[in-house]
Amino acid sequence: MADKVMVVGNWKANGTLQDLERWAAGFDPSGADAVLCVPHPYLSQATRLLDGKAEVGAQDVAGHGPGSHTGDTTAGMAADCGASFAIVGHSERRAKGEDDQLVRAKVEQAMEAGLHPILCVGESLDDREAGDLRKVLQAQVQAALSGLQEADAMTVAYEPVWAIGTGVAATEKQAAESCRMTRELALECLAGARIKVLYGGSVNASNAVGFVGSEGIDGLLVGGASLEGETFSQICAASAKAV
Ligand code: PEP
Repeated sequence: MADKVMVVGNWKANGTLQDLERWAAGFDPSGADAVLCVPHPYLSQATRLLDGKAEVGAQDVAGHGPGSHTGDTTAGMAADCGASFAIVGHSERRAKGEDDQLVRAKVEQAMEAGLHPILCVGESLDDREAGDLRKVLQAQVQAALSGLQEADAMTVAYEPVWAIGTGVAATEKQAAESCRMTRELALECLAGARIKVLYGGSVNASNAVGFVGSEGIDGLLVGGASLEGETFSQICAASAKAV
């Protein structure tokens, strides 16, 4: 039987506990494997409220274990609060100076804590226009995954930086080509592993179907359009129907 489509929501630094309660009450995964990545303080509450409807993910984890790192949240802490996934290497974190080495450390920390990493990779508009798409994806994927021990499954989100939060999504053709490239590069690092490739970047209830209906796209990473439970439910329903 084919895997269910995976639809991941990323609230970024948005929402309140009250929003979360409302969201959870109205949310219906409609046959999709849904994951909601909430801000760290909401992880426990999200786990309780979404039980049976969606898995819960952290939006980031530290690249180190416990210790003198004021303000950081370790992967173990996120797991303790019920998270089963962790976004790692999101472009909004890379833009704050997170380099490939740190992203790799975060992948390892997440795995050690029993979390499934969702590794984000993607090119800037300048990279794409310079013809450097493959080079950029290769550098990011290799740094994060090459030689990774005991990784028999991995989720990688292809998220072109120019499409995140801009309202300008990649075309289905661009997304499918880049997701195919991402899978190929991930498999070069983790031969034989089960790789899921998600597309992310200005996904909404109208364009979701086209992306998940494209060959080689296993699901979606949704930012802004995940904030409303009703919209996210529609994206899940449309995606589940399309595969
Ligand atoms: C994201 O947060 O990863 C994202 C893709 O955001 P948006 O859907 O708002 O572009």
